[in-house]
Amino acid sequence: MASFITKGRLDLLSDRQKAELSKHIQALATAMPHQLAVLLGIEYSEALAILTLLEAEGLCELKLLIYHNCEPDVPTGAIPFGKGFPDLPWVCPLCESSVENYNDLSFDIMAHFNQKIEFV
Ligand SMILES: [Zn+2]
Repeated sequence: MASFITKGRLDLLSDRQKAELSKHIQALATAMPHQLAVLLGIEYSEALAILTLLEAEGLCELKLLIYHNCEPDVPTGAIPFGKGFPDLPWVCPLCESSVENYNDLSFDIMAHFNQKIEFV
């Protein structure tokens, strides 16, 4: 298990939030910014900043999840975060339609952790 020293880097987290975050990552090995925002009672942007920092430390990999409006609750694809948005036209693997407009897609971010982390 990796220990992540929060002092000077994630000073916004209280001891209770550090414990919650450690528990969540150990249980699920994934995290989405909106989950962390609810879990820790922080803003979405702060949750995304935490995940970006952890990726920069090599502790997780961020993926951009792609949703098509044919199945709004099921991600149809995932590409490495930081590559930008998918090229259009984009063929949806679920309904096989060719998507010409970003308005028909929605996006979310998922972090995959390659090890358990204890925030100290
Ligand atoms: Zn589709």
